[in-house]
Amino acid sequence: MIHIDPTTCTGCGSCTKVCPHGVLSVEKRIARIDAEERCIECGACQLNCPAHALTVQKGTGCLFIIIKEDILKLNPGACSCG
Ligand code: SF4
Ligand code: SF4
Repeated sequence: MIHIDPTTCTGCGSCTKVCPHGVLSVEKRIARIDAEERCIECGACQLNCPAHALTVQKGTGCLFIIIKEDILKLNPGACSCG
């Protein structure tokens, strides 16, 4: 689970550049979550946020990706969500 504190986010965009799955974007100088279902909870966005505005709580994201990849191996084309 990702949380962005809009009161400390400066809209610098660092988190959007390091995210490997295009989960985040910046709109009106504040980061926003576009596709949380694609988050693998790698923590790169949190590590690279200079304002400490972003936190990533480990949950089911990684497990979800692993399961999804297993399903795709068994049935290529079964999932189109990224
Ligand atoms: S934890 Fe990783 S995958 Fe999730 S939003 Fe941050 S950089 Fe992207
Ligand atoms: S890296 Fe941090 S301060 Fe910069 S846009 Fe992302 S959440 Fe906001």
